[in-house]
Amino acid sequence: MDGAGLPEVRSTCPYCGVGCGVKLRADGAGGLAVEGDPDHPANRGKLCSKGLALGETVGLGERLLSPRVNGSDTGWHDALNLVAKRFSDTIAEHGPDSVAFYVSGQLLTEDYYVANKLMKGFIGSANIDTNSRLCMASTVAGHKRAFGSDTVPGTYEDLEQTDLVVLTGSNLAWCHPVLYQRLAAARAARGTKVVVIDPRRTATCDIADLHLKLKPGTDVALFNGLFAHLREMGALDKRFILDHTTGYDETLAAASSDDAETTGLDPRDIARFYQMFAATERTVTVFSQGVNQSTSGTDKVNAILNCHLATGRIGKPGMGPLSVTGQPNAMGGRETGGLANMLAAHLDLENAEHRAAVQSFWSAPHIAERPGLKAVDMFRAVGEGRIKALWIACTNPAVSMPDADAVRAAIKGCDFTVVSDITGQTDTARLADVLLPATGWGEKDGTVTNSDRTISRQRPALPAPGLARHDWAIFAEVGRRMGWHDAFDYRGPAEIFREHAALSGIAGRLGRDFDISGLADISDADYDDLKPTRWPVSATRSGGRFFGDGRFFTPDGRARLLPVRQTAPAARREPCYPYRLNTGRTRDQWHTMTRTGLAPRLSRHLAEPFLQIHPEDAATLDLAPAHLARVKSPHGEAILRVLVSEDAAPGAPFAPMHWTGETAPAGRIDALVAPATDPVSGQPESKASVVAIERYNAAWYGFAVAASKPSANVAYWARMRTSQGWRMELAGETACGDWRGFAQRLFGLDTEPQVVSPASSIRQPCDVRMRAQ
Ligand code: SF4
Repeated sequence: MDGAGLPEVRSTCPYCGVGCGVKLRADGAGGLAVEGDPDHPANRGKLCSKGLALGETVGLGERLLSPRVNGSDTGWHDALNLVAKRFSDTIAEHGPDSVAFYVSGQLLTEDYYVANKLMKGFIGSANIDTNSRLCMASTVAGHKRAFGSDTVPGTYEDLEQTDLVVLTGSNLAWCHPVLYQRLAAARAARGTKVVVIDPRRTATCDIADLHLKLKPGTDVALFNGLFAHLREMGALDKRFILDHTTGYDETLAAASSDDAETTGLDPRDIARFYQMFAATERTVTVFSQGVNQSTSGTDKVNAILNCHLATGRIGKPGMGPLSVTGQPNAMGGRETGGLANMLAAHLDLENAEHRAAVQSFWSAPHIAERPGLKAVDMFRAVGEGRIKALWIACTNPAVSMPDADAVRAAIKGCDFTVVSDITGQTDTARLADVLLPATGWGEKDGTVTNSDRTISRQRPALPAPGLARHDWAIFAEVGRRMGWHDAFDYRGPAEIFREHAALSGIAGRLGRDFDISGLADISDADYDDLKPTRWPVSATRSGGRFFGDGRFFTPDGRARLLPVRQTAPAARREPCYPYRLNTGRTRDQWHTMTRTGLAPRLSRHLAEPFLQIHPEDAATLDLAPAHLARVKSPHGEAILRVLVSEDAAPGAPFAPMHWTGETAPAGRIDALVAPATDPVSGQPESKASVVAIERYNAAWYGFAVAASKPSANVAYWARMRTSQGWRMELAGETACGDWRGFAQRLFGLDTEPQVVSPASSIRQPCDVRMRAQ
């Protein structure tokens, strides 16, 4: 079939929180051409490497195409009846808090809305949390403490209207590349100054005028020092403080009691940063996971917000704090209440009036009356048998949660686990009792909200494969089968969106920030055509910035300056674990690689899990480039390829989060991360795990290429796609006398593969090269 006649579809990239618009054209044979949408305000036609490779990720080779119960294909009717019955029976026997949903920042807003409604309004528990807990929960908590609402004040345009950008805990160049490109262009055009605050030198530092390589976890001391300096320099906005904030004296006392030298930075660099900030009214502070993923993440956020509030630099062109989310729809999840401690439409679970309003709007038999279990506590409860029925949607917690080995064991031991996803080939899906095939990006239909509050449509360009269904439809069907037919009788995503928008109007009348009631009567056709739209959208407000008028969403309308103090990082150095492991993303992979891992060109960037380590540490440990290192924490261990680089901070190596049991079983880095969380936000500390490192002395090393997917039972292997098939790195502890037999088993071949042995290589002591046709 010739695809030239198929219509062009405008949609949104499914990866990071920038939320770039894309134009899609299906070829009629399952393929998809992708280009940037020049009309989308987030990216104006640009895409990063991941966005450009989207067309390589839509193949059906690894898709789940049918429901499965206990490993056998079945129809939707039987699978959904089983899910509804097991959840209903468990609730009847053990109460609503004995069940839980763990969902994803990659669900669409409509999916999130239905899942949250089912759990909080009809099951009557708040046990729904999301992988966004691992991404930006500290920002949500910090916003609410300071503003009385989870409001992102500014917009992306601020990056082009500002004179100084402070990037803290944000490798924008790799994690939000198109936003980085916008900043780099603005810097070239108008000389914007850039300060990067990060223990590690990242690609983002390429445009930095100043890089502050602070000690991990000392951000509060740095920003408290800034607050005190601004006061000394007379750079605070006294009028704004007096008229629009509370807590100034306590905040100044706390800030003055901290010592910025705790950061370990050269005092001259600290002074330069403070002078730049004090002297530049148009300042934007961008923060991300490096701030959020910490046991003091919420305090870090408030230390940043304090500096912007006390200078009145908020909600005006080119000024303000700007949180950038990791995921494409973390914001939509927040708007629909998809976190265990939130109600829908930015309403508060702890507020009886808010609960009554939502319950009445939904005509719900229940409404959750207390916060549910946040992600780490949820999986702890699963492991302890308190959660007896668990539904995981569109995410892979057996890999991505801290203490991942324990989480994997908890899921395995759960009485009843449902996984809805695009593939059954994930570490988590392999543990499910029931697997439900969900539509993937390219097939989905709904909305997402990016980091600057812009709601964009994801539109389908490809048909749903096999028996796959939309996530909202799966949740709604289970809701109907649990007895709530009318509440979940949706005809399509537009109807859900209208309901979501109407509920936000109630929130607006209750004085909340999130109000898109101007879209509550949108027709199906207008929903289909909806252009990128920044909220709020109501009779009184639309788009734009918040807080420029000095009015906040607290009961008295004033922002809260919060006294916060630098605390000792929770993960102290211990003699047995002398290094602090920093984890994060690489440029070309996304989360646990279920999609980006399908694109050969993305695998070319960094094809193995690695440990980026400073040369001094490498010398101490007798590690050289391309060695393997064994990394141990009190929770788990990993084997990683050594990458020696001065970019890593001494004593604080870095490892990526992407590799899984499917791609490199020894490289599951979250198995090392402690389940320690921020006491306010519940967000885990993913940036500073205590670890020990030693050289991994393999008896042999190998490299294989294969036309079909290989697997191995050796101590270390990592496999990646190539344009022709697969490549695999291997290492083992026991020398093999029969390499041909070994390679035959590796590739499941009837014929003998070609073996070239040994070959000279830096991967001494032995290098075995194998090739299977
Ligand atoms: S910057 Fe983010 S949203 Fe934009 S193309 Fe890249 S991954 Fe997608």
